[in-house]
Amino acid sequence: MPSDRDALDQLVGSRHVVPSADLPSRLDEVFIRVGMRAGFNSVQEMISRSTLYPYFTFFLPTERKASILNRARTGTGSGLKVEIGLVANRFGASTPLRHCPACVEASAESFGRAIWRREQQLPGVSVCLMHRRPLHETELLQSRYGNRHQLVLPGQLAARPSTARASRLEIKFAALSTELLSAGTEGRNAAGHVRAYRRALSRLGWVRGATQFDWHRLRQALAEGVCGADSFPFRGRLDLTQAEAPAWVRAALGGRPSSVHPICHVALVDALFESVDLFLQDLGQVTVDSYEQRTALLVQREHEERLLRDQTLSCTEAARRLGLCTTTVSLRRKRLGLAVATRQRIGASEGIDELRRQLIRGVSVADAAFNARVSLSKAYRLLSVEPRLQASRAALRIEKRRQSYRSEWEQAKLQLPYGSCRDRRALAPAAYAWLRRNDQDWLLASLPPRMQHAVQERVNWAERDHALSQLVLPTIMTIRELTRPLRATRGEILRRIMSPGSWQHNQTKLPHLKSALDLHAESLEAFKIRAQYHRPAK
Ligand SMILES: [Zn+2]
Repeated sequence: MPSDRDALDQLVGSRHVVPSADLPSRLDEVFIRVGMRAGFNSVQEMISRSTLYPYFTFFLPTERKASILNRARTGTGSGLKVEIGLVANRFGASTPLRHCPACVEASAESFGRAIWRREQQLPGVSVCLMHRRPLHETELLQSRYGNRHQLVLPGQLAARPSTARASRLEIKFAALSTELLSAGTEGRNAAGHVRAYRRALSRLGWVRGATQFDWHRLRQALAEGVCGADSFPFRGRLDLTQAEAPAWVRAALGGRPSSVHPICHVALVDALFESVDLFLQDLGQVTVDSYEQRTALLVQREHEERLLRDQTLSCTEAARRLGLCTTTVSLRRKRLGLAVATRQRIGASEGIDELRRQLIRGVSVADAAFNARVSLSKAYRLLSVEPRLQASRAALRIEKRRQSYRSEWEQAKLQLPYGSCRDRRALAPAAYAWLRRNDQDWLLASLPPRMQHAVQERVNWAERDHALSQLVLPTIMTIRELTRPLRATRGEILRRIMSPGSWQHNQTKLPHLKSALDLHAESLEAFKIRAQYHRPAK
């Protein structure tokens, strides 16, 4: 067992780095040492799939995001929290480490050791989505105790079990935060976020004029949402009791969304969209955004090609600047018709045949090289010159992933035998997202019958129109019985019977619902009169 300092040296190439759980640095070094062997194709992919950066940078402007990711790759990590804005917005810049005992046990069984799960370290998250149990917190405020170089595994130090029970809102908060984390690090911009929030507000009827919004209504939705629960640790910080909108709300809706902590955005997405999926869909709808994204992509491609064509740079150097591995750069250069320093060809020796056999069976590159007694770089080179070998390994990896996600989804089904698809998704968000993209037929067959119809778009609109229009009056009654008088506007009624996104898309197919709304939605005058005599029902 190496000492902490030796292990640090092996991981990041330095004995003096202070490891950070939420914002790690020197990731280029980590990628070269372990990332490639872990199956990541580039530093970017490693950052996007195994760190918290996607969550912390999602709402930042493109240039700031790029500068932060660049510092994460090559810098020492000092000042990162300040640059991201975590120090300024008072959400606490250092968080305790958390783990779920059941997850630790499961990872010990399947990988032979306990692992930290990144989604459990997200700020404000207090429950395990997989097991629906409270997380345990390890009080390791590294900078305070002088154990700054220590590396710990979950369960190694005394942990304080969280006393709170896993409530519905805590689970939803964890699910939304995790979905944001899985959304990746690319292709969003700040102005687009503001416009998406604004569109949602106007869909819900919570706007006043061109720039004002109805704080009273938004406050109510926020207070009833994931961040309004008594157990939510940052409830006080969100400041929802004021008569005026607090500074963070004005910043998020008024053109400075990047100055606001992601927790605040999670609260807004919950109140305005209900799910990160719908929010992302809305972001994608705007053509200006996709135009800007396309331009950004083109600029990046040009930059890449310039570096590839720059013959004064070695493959290794170009690879470092592009965040790719050297072999990829040399292949791309060959494809561009550029001269690449050729290496000795790999012969058909005894070791190579054994190496090939091992690699085909899906053994990790490091183990295969060790077993076949050839060097690691030779093993990577064999992979790079034999695309079919690479393809068969990729297919194997996908198959493995498919099996593991399928079983995770089955697990969610077992835990919630009568749950809706949405409830199960909250339990296994990553599995759902992957299966939806890569294994749709299987996923569809496993959904509850009603959801199968919804996903296959075989909705009987006439029937749904009728059923929804029947809900209008009971919903108005519910609204009228609220303790605080609330106007039963179209938006308010709609928000309670269907998702805003679905109404937006399908209103032409719902004529009865539309006329029921036109007929029964409360006018401002009627509301003013009712509010004067308001007596809440017991
Ligand atoms: Zn767990």
